[in-house]
Amino acid sequence: MAGEPQADCLFCKIVAKEVPATVVRETETTLAFRDINPQAPTHVLVIPKVHHPDAASLAAAEPEIAADVLREAGEVAAQEQSDSYRIVFNTGTGAGQTVFHAHAHVLGGRGLQWPPG
Ligand code: AMP
Ligand code: ZN
Repeated sequence: MAGEPQADCLFCKIVAKEVPATVVRETETTLAFRDINPQAPTHVLVIPKVHHPDAASLAAAEPEIAADVLREAGEVAAQEQSDSYRIVFNTGTGAGQTVFHAHAHVLGGRGLQWPPG
């Protein structure tokens, strides 16, 4: 069922503390932790604790939690003292999505190219 923990999902396992992560922020509905393969000095993933496969599915099913993810992305950037940063939701394998539990990448701490690749 949408929103329920998925046994084969890496980020559900991080939420359940079955897989370790370097957590930088936590709220009732979200978890923020450092990406294991950082692409910038600040590279933090913000995830909803509930399982949805991508950002749009999360927003359709639980819009308040989608807003929580965005708010927390801003809080992470502030905590990391990044006043310029990028929030990315890769969606679909062609766009580089590899973990099918909604997550925001928060990237900062260096100049960021536009348009992205
Ligand atoms: P995406 O490719 O957009 O689905 O993003 C998934 C991200 O999860 C990638 O940037 C990975 O480096 C990151 N990742 C994979 N495994 C872990 C882990 N155990 N802890 C933290 N980040 C991870
Ligand atoms: Zn999950």
